[in-house]
Formats: sequence, C-alpha cells, structure tokens
Amino acid sequence: MPTMLVTGGAGFIGSNFIHIALQNSAIRLINLDKLTYAGNLDSLKDIEQDSHYIFVEGDICDSGLINDIFTQYQPDSIVHFAAESHVDRSIDGPGEFIRTNIQGTFALLEEARKYWRELDKDKQNQFRFLHISTDEVYGSLGDTGYFTEETAYAPNSPYSASKASSDHLVRAYYHTYGLPVLMTNCSNNYGPYQFPEKLIPLMILNALEGKPLPIYGNGQNVRDWLYVEDHCRAILRVLEAGKPGEKYNIGGHNEKKNLDIVHILCNILDEKRPRNDGKSYRDQITYVKDRPGHDLRYAIDASKIQKELGWVPAETFETGIIKTVEWYLNNLEWCHRVTDGSYRRERIGLGAQG
Ligand code: NAD
Repeated sequence: MPTMLVTGGAGFIGSNFIHIALQNSAIRLINLDKLTYAGNLDSLKDIEQDSHYIFVEGDICDSGLINDIFTQYQPDSIVHFAAESHVDRSIDGPGEFIRTNIQGTFALLEEARKYWRELDKDKQNQFRFLHISTDEVYGSLGDTGYFTEETAYAPNSPYSASKASSDHLVRAYYHTYGLPVLMTNCSNNYGPYQFPEKLIPLMILNALEGKPLPIYGNGQNVRDWLYVEDHCRAILRVLEAGKPGEKYNIGGHNEKKNLDIVHILCNILDEKRPRNDGKSYRDQITYVKDRPGHDLRYAIDASKIQKELGWVPAETFETGIIKTVEWYLNNLEWCHRVTDGSYRRERIGLGAQG
C-alpha cells in the first residue's frame, strides 16, 4: 500500500484533503503537523481510529524528525501544506512566516532529496513531492487579466513573499537535483474547517453573534474563490498525472468583491437563520482601515490543469457557499471550541479553565 506524507494536515485545506484522500484511495497517510494555533485535531476526530492514518506532532523545520519519518515510514509521496497562512498575521509578525514557509520547506526538500537519491530507480521515478502554494505569489492584477503559470512573481505581503521564496526553492530542487517535484498555485479556498480568522467563517460567526462585520477599505478588492474540496481533488489529480517539474494554477473562475461576498453571506443567513429583530445581517457591516499592501485583484487562469489533466471544479460559487454556510450552522460546536480556545487547551493538558 503506498504511503503518503502530508504536512500541515490539521489545518483547513490539509484536513479536508486527508478526508478526501483516505476516502478515494487505498493509502497509508502520515500527517506531520506542529499544531500551531491553526492546527486543529477536532477536524480529524472522525478518522483518528482509521488504521491507515498516523498523526505525528512535529515541526517541518526539524530535519532530524523528518529524517526519522522517512526512515520509518518510507513515503512514496509528500503533499506539503504546512505553512503560516494568514496575511494579517504576517504583517504583524513576519518572522514565523520566514521560518516555517521558507526554512521549513527547505528542511523538507533537503531531507526528501537525501531520502529520494537512496531509493531504487523504480521508486525514484514514482516518488512525488507536491508543494501547495497560492496565487498571491503573483501579486496584484488590475481590472483585467489572469494569472497564468508564466506570470512573473511579484509578492506584496510577507506571507506571499515567503510562499514565493518556497516556490523558488521547490523549482530549484527539480532543476538542480532532479527531485520529482510538482507545484500548485491556488486561489482563495472556502469551505468546512476553516479557521474563523478568515473572511467567510469570520463573517458567518460574527453575524450570528450580533458582532460587526468588518470590511477592509471599501470592500472592492477582488478574490477568486474555490470550494476547498475542489482544490483537494485537483491536488489528487496533479499527484496522479502531473508532470514532474511543472506547476499548475488552480481556480474556479469565481471572482467576487469582498463586499459582495459579505452581502451573499448575509442573504443566505437572513433566509436560513433570520435575526430575532427581523432586520438584515447587512446592518452589521462596518468598514475598517484598509490592510497595508492590500492587493486589488487576484484571478486565476486554470486552463492548463483543465486541458492537461482534465480537472474541473464540481461546485459553482453559488452551490459551494450554501454548503459552506450550512456546514458552519451545523458545526457551531467546532467553531465555539476554536473561538473559546478549548481545542488547544485540551491538547496541551491545561483543562477547560487553563
Ligand atoms: P492553515 O493555516 O489552516 O493550516 C496550516 C497547518 O500547518 C496547521 O495545521 C499548522 O499547525 C501547520 N503548521 C504550521 N507551521 C508548521 C510547522 N512549522 N511544522 C508543521 N506544521 C506546521 O492553512 P491552509 O489555509 O490550510 O493552507 C494550507 C496551504 O495551502 C498553505 O501552504 C497555504 O499557503 C496554501 N494555500 C492556502 C489557500 C487558502 O485559501 N487557505 C489558498 C492557496 C494556497
């Protein structure tokens, strides 16, 4: 049975990916995660007992640990999600982004290279290192145009700069050492298990709690949204059929202004969970000072993965966003354990009052 090493599998996309990967293929899956604030084992509770799933708590910067994992589990592939991922946090404190996203990716690549070169020829040819990245590395678009795989990198935040740097390292390991790497650059994801500091879950939860719905600047910034399960299926497809050394842009052609997203969420909530006073959740919208270096528009041209690998998203924004709101409404306990911090306190043994 093939073994897949996933890093950062307790995060938003990683936990969705692990569910889908275990459902879709007969694999043994090792999840290496440091359990930072963004790592939440609640998201993987239903598969804790799965005999094909092994969790290892640890840091991707720890070369010794990575080496031990390679020696013990002999992975056939690596899917590398682990990262610091929140742009606002990268503005407040870029250090951890440099450490995890750049040094951590370097440590993983370096150990992967040493492990890979010792494999026999067949195993070397089959081995894959898939690096998960973002469209934010390309910088900001004007009102028109799309990011293609050839678009020059122009990152504007410490987060995107650290991801761009890790992308360059991954590319270099292919060209310099022949390590069979693949890379995906995806647009904004939304869906179940997303940490409620990100736009969509934040707005849903703030709305339900009667709190303000804060919008940066005038809310005209455009993001291209993809339902997280579509991203996960694209990753599986790239792993299966992608060409080593290649990168693939992933997106759903769902460009939306931030303000429009919040309006859509308010409309869905007005219908599914109306406010007690009969007013619209839109009344809770407030405008706050814009984020420094806030990119105006991201939009992905995903034609390469569509043409070469036959991947297309299953969800439209309209279907995916309803599923998402319903998931949060049905999983408020998951959300509350994040917002009150109990998902972490229990883990480090401090008890509910810690
Ligand atoms: P996330 O912040 O929800 O999860 C990150 C996970 O990595 C957490 O479980 C965390 O504990 C773990 N982690 C952090 N530092 C670590 C370290 N040093 N060692 C081991 N584990 C560590 O992130 P996400 O939104 O799931 O994003 C996953 C990946 O996808 C990231 O590489 C991100 O750049 C990329 N990406 C995200 C989006 C998006 O919209 N969320 C879009 C495109 C690409």
